[in-house]
Order: sequence, then structure tokens, then C-alpha cells
Amino acid sequence: MNPPLVVGNWKMNGGQKASLELVRKISNQLRKHPTPAQVALAPPFTALSALKKIAEKARIDLAAQNCDWHDSGAFTGEISSAMLQEIGCDLVIIGHSERRHIFCESDDAIAQKIAAVIRHGMRPILCVGETIDERKGDQTSAVIMRQLDSALKGIAEDAIDKVEIAYEPVWAIGTGLNATAEQIRETHAQIRKFLISRFDKTKGEHVRILYGGSVKPDNAETIARIESVNGVLVGGASLMADSFLEIIRAFSVK
Ligand code: PEP
Repeated sequence: MNPPLVVGNWKMNGGQKASLELVRKISNQLRKHPTPAQVALAPPFTALSALKKIAEKARIDLAAQNCDWHDSGAFTGEISSAMLQEIGCDLVIIGHSERRHIFCESDDAIAQKIAAVIRHGMRPILCVGETIDERKGDQTSAVIMRQLDSALKGIAEDAIDKVEIAYEPVWAIGTGLNATAEQIRETHAQIRKFLISRFDKTKGEHVRILYGGSVKPDNAETIARIESVNGVLVGGASLMADSFLEIIRAFSVK
């Protein structure tokens, strides 16, 4: 298995100036105290280019929060994966629950985005997760399987090693609620089973499955101890250098 992946998703917070200040604080600490974990930051689009050099020096990967699947054309307001590749992005978050629920992104659009990101030599972080009603209605497994099946349907059997998966229960994102260790273990096991049965077995065994949903310094160690958790996608707590660094530290011993 590759090292754990710790991703900070800054969402629509901070302009270029604030983003630069934050990445400087994080990278200064990581240069002084390097981590075996792989760290990635997903600032708003307008800060991506400016962050690249500083991030690179601290071996922080650059992630975008979304992209369009067309390479170019009359798609006002969109950013293509080709454009993200050109400025040095390594990863792109695809299918985040805020994209699915606020911006009504369909399973089909997500599948096209995943394919575009891989086509341009970057790694998608595919987010999957159930709403609270779906969990209460015992639909969690069916929802996650539908999301995986649909998002990855165009991926060749041997290309699954280009993908990172993030299990993010919708009800845990930005709410302060966490999935229990048992809920995480159960869903991660279902995701792993899907990957192994659908794709090349060895590659399917090595795809990283991250957890996301109110990961904070005070619960990061507990989450890191769950064997099937191969990293985390962090929203709110990645907006402060100290709390994000503490989370990275929790994953540095895994
Ligand atoms: C996220 O944005 O993917 C996320 C998990 O946010 P938070 O950590 O704030 O719940």
C-alpha cells in the first residue's frame, strides 16, 4: 500500500493571499518535520498556480476541487482537466457531496470527469457517501455501490491504480458528526470488495480508501488506527495550519 494520503479541501475559502499564507505555514513545518504521509492541498482555483512552487518544496501535492470533462470549448465558467494538468495539478477531487447535492452533479457527469482526469495524467479522488436518510433507510451499501459502479464504469480493468476513493458520509461533512469506527470499517470493506471484484485484483487491493467527515485533531488518531483507512479528506480542520498538521502527524505513524 502507498503511504497514507492526507488531503486538505479548502472549499471556497480564502483568496490567493490567504491561501499563500496558509500553505507557507504548513510547508514550513513539513520541511522542518517531514512526514512519510503524502499530503495534498486543494485550494480554490484562483490560488492553485500561486501555491504550486511553495507546495512543491515541501513535497505537498496540488489538488483541484472539481473540473469539467471537456478539453476545451464553449463551456462558460468551467475549468478543464487539461488546464489543471498544465498548471501542475496532481489530483482532482471529483463527486464531492457538495457538488452532487448543491450543484446537482449526476453520476454520469462524475464518470466523465473521472475519465478526463485520468486521461490528463492526474489522479481523481472519487468521493462517495450516503445521506442520513439513506443510512437510516438501510441504503448505505446500495448507494455506495451505485456511485462506484457508475463513476468507474469507463475505467479499464488495469487503470484502477490511478484512482483514490474517499468515503464521506454526507451527514458527517461539516457537521461535527463522525461515522463510528464500525461504520467506517464496514463501508470501507464493501468498497474494497467492489474494487477487487470489478478490477485487477492486485491493483484493487492497493487503491487507497480515505475517510472524510469532520476529521479533527482530536479524532484523527482514532481514525488513523482503523486499519482499512488509508488517509483522510479534511475540510474545516485543514483551514488552520496547526490543526491540519496535527492530523498529518496522526497519519505519520501509520
Ligand atoms: C470535506 O470537505 O470533504 C469534509 C470532509 O469537510 P469537513 O472535514 O469539514 O467535514
